[in-house]
Amino acid sequence: MLTRQQIRQQERALAKRGQAVVSSGLPPAPDKQDIVAVALVLARTLRNRDDPGRAISAARLVHGLNEVSTRKSPGAAKLACARGCGMCCHNWVGATVPEVLLLAATARNSARSQPDLIGRIVERTNVTAGRSRLERFGAKLPCPLLVDNQCSYYRERPAVCRQTTSLDLAGCLDEFEGRGYGGEIKVSSVYLAHARNSRVPLSAALRLTGLDTATYELSAALACALALDDPERRWLGGEDVMAGIEKGPRDQAVDDAISAIERELAPLMRDAGVGA
Ligand code: SF4
Ligand code: SF4
Repeated sequence: MLTRQQIRQQERALAKRGQAVVSSGLPPAPDKQDIVAVALVLARTLRNRDDPGRAISAARLVHGLNEVSTRKSPGAAKLACARGCGMCCHNWVGATVPEVLLLAATARNSARSQPDLIGRIVERTNVTAGRSRLERFGAKLPCPLLVDNQCSYYRERPAVCRQTTSLDLAGCLDEFEGRGYGGEIKVSSVYLAHARNSRVPLSAALRLTGLDTATYELSAALACALALDDPERRWLGGEDVMAGIEKGPRDQAVDDAISAIERELAPLMRDAGVGA
């Protein structure tokens, strides 16, 4: 039986490991305990009531982890993706609430330098609103953040955009033109793994903190966050700010991974008194 002090030491050591991983990145197939350690860092971030922007801080942390991991381990596959190729940015995109809040905050901050930005987001959202994935297939409706075929918030783009790659430009073109819905586009398994390695600990941390783990249709979610005063405070305070916005599908494998992390971290955090 461990003492409270030993449990605290154990929790601090795991958090230290997580911080080191966030700085140095993960390989595509990491040690499972490294993912648990990152989830602990994110849960501590989300429970830090001294930081009113803690949801955005958590999103920044996982995006930073993804950046360093893909830079260090990009994989050997040759991607068809290139600057100015934005066909995949016409697909249905889902993002977690912290990811949406980060994009909304960045958009608000840049509204002065891009005065038409918020109007464009609202306008494009009105066009895509209420259309299912199938209805959007081949309709060539761009993400509101796509400008001149480039992502205007590339550094802040959500995990799903980070995992979207292709080894086959023809497959992307078919999808863009509305041919072969559901067809298989060959993708980089390494980019997929890196995105999953940041998505799983973020979702686990959200669940450990009692926050919403769902993903929401990006255009509508962004318009909603931009229309509200202080959406982050309201969401952290328990308000369902994304009510009525279409949710993304659940992934059983990701759910199982989140549950495994929760089973390990919940008692540790409770016994160590983290955020209590
Ligand atoms: S995934 Fe396809 S459409 Fe998107 S950038 Fe890569 S090649 Fe272009
Ligand atoms: S957020 Fe950026 S990368 Fe993602 S769909 Fe929109 S424009 Fe494309």
